Amino acid sequence: METCELIDKCGFLIRYSPSNQLACQGFINRYCNGELKDQCKRKAFKMKNGTPPPDNMLPTGTFLSSNN
Ligand code: SF4
Repeated sequence: METCELIDKCGFLIRYSPSNQLACQGFINRYCNGELKDQCKRKAFKMKNGTPPPDNMLPTGTFLSSNN
């Protein structure tokens, strides 16, 4: 399965994967490298708005507290 083309510049992964490796790996497996890739809300946001979503928006569309 192809990897999401945004994976190298995805603000969510860049910001959170160093400190939350396990949780981010779960999202990567299911979204970035997985069957939910085309349902990623971050990707939909970028396509709709032309700009990336805030870093603290999860692939599910939920926002993390920005203090995390
Ligand atoms: S979180 Fe979404 S936009 Fe970011 S790399 Fe994964 S699938 Fe692509």
